[in-house]
Amino acid sequence: MATIKSYRTSDSSKKITTYLFNARHYSLAFDFGSNEIATSDIKNLDYIFITHEHLDHFMGLLNLDYAKLLLDSKCVIYASNVTKDLMIAIFENALRVDLDKKSTNTIRDLLHSIQGALFYEKYKLNNHSYFRLFPSGHTFGSSMVYLHDEETKILYTGDMDFSEDDSDRQYQLDLKENESIDYIIADGTYLNNEDFRDEEFSKIRENIINKGFSKFYCKPEKMVFFCKKLMLSPKLKDEYCIVFSNDLKWYLKVLREYCYEPFITNQIILDSSIYEVPDKKCLFVSSKKQDKQTNVTGLVGLHISFLDFAYFLYQFDTSKTKVLVGHYNYEDKNDILATFHANQFTCDFNVHILEKGEYTL
Ligand SMILES: [Zn+2]
Repeated sequence: MATIKSYRTSDSSKKITTYLFNARHYSLAFDFGSNEIATSDIKNLDYIFITHEHLDHFMGLLNLDYAKLLLDSKCVIYASNVTKDLMIAIFENALRVDLDKKSTNTIRDLLHSIQGALFYEKYKLNNHSYFRLFPSGHTFGSSMVYLHDEETKILYTGDMDFSEDDSDRQYQLDLKENESIDYIIADGTYLNNEDFRDEEFSKIRENIINKGFSKFYCKPEKMVFFCKKLMLSPKLKDEYCIVFSNDLKWYLKVLREYCYEPFITNQIILDSSIYEVPDKKCLFVSSKKQDKQTNVTGLVGLHISFLDFAYFLYQFDTSKTKVLVGHYNYEDKNDILATFHANQFTCDFNVHILEKGEYTL
C-alpha cells in the first residue's frame, strides 16, 4: 500500500509542509521543510522535490546532518531552475548561518547538486513513474509537481496562488488527456477564508498620492509583486518610479537572469549609480527595516483563496480525485472542512486534512 507520511515544520507554526510518498518501488519527498524527519526515512529517499524557496519548504536541506546523508545517498533533488538559483542565493546572501567552512561547503555542494527542471517538460524518474512541473503562482519560479506513478497519480500543489491582475501569480496546470489525478495535496494556508486585500492596497495608493508615503518595507519575494500591482495604477505609473534598495540586489539578480521584465523598465529600477533615476517622484522599497517605512509585507498574501481553489477543483471529477489538505494552522482544521462542505463546487469532494504521521492512500 502506498502511503503519504507528513512532517511538520520545526518553527513555531508547526505547519505540515513535507510529504513523503512511499510507492511500491521507490520513495520520494514533496518539499523538505522539516528538521524532524527520521534518519531512516531520509536514507530511503530516491527523490526530493522542492517547490519554492521559502524556508518552511526547504530548510531540511540546510540541516547539516541531513545534507551529509543526502550527499552520500542516491537521492536526486529536483526544483525549477529559478527555485534552485533562489535557494542558492538565499543561502549565500540572506541567511545568517553559523557554520564552519567545511560545513558550509557541504550544504553548498548539496544545493548545487539540485537538478534544475523546466516547467511542462516530462521527466522520467524510473520505469514506474515520471513527473512534470507546472507554475504554482506563489513566488517567481514556484512549482506544482505532477507525479504520474503506475499506480497513483498525485498533484502536489505546493504553495499556490491565483491573482487576477498578475500572470506571474497564477497557477498554470496543463495536463495531457491521459494524465488523471487521484490525489491533490493542496496548500491549505488560506482555505478557510476569502481574505484578499484590495481595499488595503487602495489605501496605500491614496497614502502615496495624498500623504506622500514613499518608503516601504517588504519581504523580497512579495516586494516584486507589490511593486507590479502599484504600477497598475495609471496615476502612479505616470508620476512615480520605484527604486529598489541595494539590499534586494541578490534577489533581483536571479530574477533578471530569467528575464523578468519589470526590473528593466524605467518604472522599476535599482538604487545604484549605474542606473539613472528618471525625473519622477521615487518610491523606495527595501527588505531591511529602516525609519519611517510602511510595512506592506502583509498586503501580498501569496496563497490561493478558497473561492479560487474551488474554481481550480471544478475541473476534476469528484468520484476520482481526492483532496488532501496540508500547510494549515492547526486550529483551522475544522474551519477548512466546514468551508469545503458549505460550497456547492467542493461539497462532493472527498477531503482529508493531513496531520503529522502516515496516511494510507
Ligand atoms: Zn511559500
